[in-house]
Amino acid sequence: MTTLTLNSKEAIALEDQYGAHNYHPIPVVLDRGEGALVWDLEGKQYYDFLAAYSAVNQGHCHPRLVNALINQAKSMTLTSRAFYNSRLGECERFMADYFGYDKVLMMNSGAEANETAIKLARKWGYEKKGIPSNEAVIVAVRKNFHGRTTTIISASTDPSSTTNFGPFMPGFQVIEYNNLEALEKALQNPNVCGFWVEPIQGEAGVQVPQDGYLSKAFALCEERNVLLMLDEVQTGLGRTGKLLASDYEGVKPHILILGKALSGGLYPVSAVLANDDVMLVIKPGEHGSTFGGNPLACAVTIEALSIIKDENLVENSFRLGELFRARMNAFKTKTKVVKEVRGKGLMNAVEVNDSPKGNLAWNICLALKENGLLAKPTHGNIIRFTPPLILTEEQMHECCDIIEKTILAFG
Ligand code: PLP
Repeated sequence: MTTLTLNSKEAIALEDQYGAHNYHPIPVVLDRGEGALVWDLEGKQYYDFLAAYSAVNQGHCHPRLVNALINQAKSMTLTSRAFYNSRLGECERFMADYFGYDKVLMMNSGAEANETAIKLARKWGYEKKGIPSNEAVIVAVRKNFHGRTTTIISASTDPSSTTNFGPFMPGFQVIEYNNLEALEKALQNPNVCGFWVEPIQGEAGVQVPQDGYLSKAFALCEERNVLLMLDEVQTGLGRTGKLLASDYEGVKPHILILGKALSGGLYPVSAVLANDDVMLVIKPGEHGSTFGGNPLACAVTIEALSIIKDENLVENSFRLGELFRARMNAFKTKTKVVKEVRGKGLMNAVEVNDSPKGNLAWNICLALKENGLLAKPTHGNIIRFTPPLILTEEQMHECCDIIEKTILAFG
């Protein structure tokens, strides 16, 4: 139920006038969500094929999550870490068991979890690997996306992330993604403490590396005493058809970075997981966050992770992903518009035959909206399709029908 009496046009005008212009949204004003469906202020229904950039893997307003949030909110929401709280230890144990690590450090946003991973890797580099003071290097890759803080963008190669935001933080070396020779060469530097990478690059347009990339990268890291820092903020928690995308190659990173669907979209929760030899380099007072590990976040996180298992969302993501790509690849032969279909599980992209600066993908997304499905281009000519993982097979077929019909109108 909305508390405002605005129509969509008025709501957009308000954001435009009073909000910073740091986003360029598709012109739709969402007011309500349930499962894979959302409704705008005028009551028009859409399939949500962005799922809040994969934060809503469990579907909008999952009743179990809403109940967990409400129940916890009635007794305690925030204590700060100046005191213990009755939910944190339970949540940390739950996550440690769930992902198979000794320790968990909870934060809020994905960017904060990545910042935490950087600090952990550097401190480990000085205190365990013996890197000379202030000389630690983290190897990152081209077209990465790990968030928006000034340190994180220092490793970015995307001009829209970096232009006029300098000076930048030293201590990063950026190499080609999906290039093991470049990695092997970079790791020869004894001052490298970490290799920081997404298993599939999300914001770069669902870029899937060659099979074996991660397992070989892990082996190189082991050989050179370097920490593999995997950013699974977007790829994790069932999105790619495995619990973690790294499970495809049986890789267990030294530092695992999670966010987004850790709360099913109800609340910002992120976390870094590592074993004791890494995690315990951070001592009391050296890192933290007012909200990190609060009881509300803990209650929501346990429920969000339980739902993924109880509702077989990982398996559903794998199965429906296969279905989506099979349909889109068959459709590709009937249209001139589709250049490539790629992805894993329910993390997919359709690249269209246009330059990255063209507006075909944007126009297709506007038409998809008219036809009742919401998606957004990433990097110009790539449309990312990442619905909630609770989608049914019947809904997936209906959505593929909408996508095909819409794209066919463009040629
Ligand atoms: N890492 C990856 C792989 C992401 O996709 C994102 C967000 O899209 C982030 C980090 C940043 O997360 P947040 O926006 O919660 O800071």
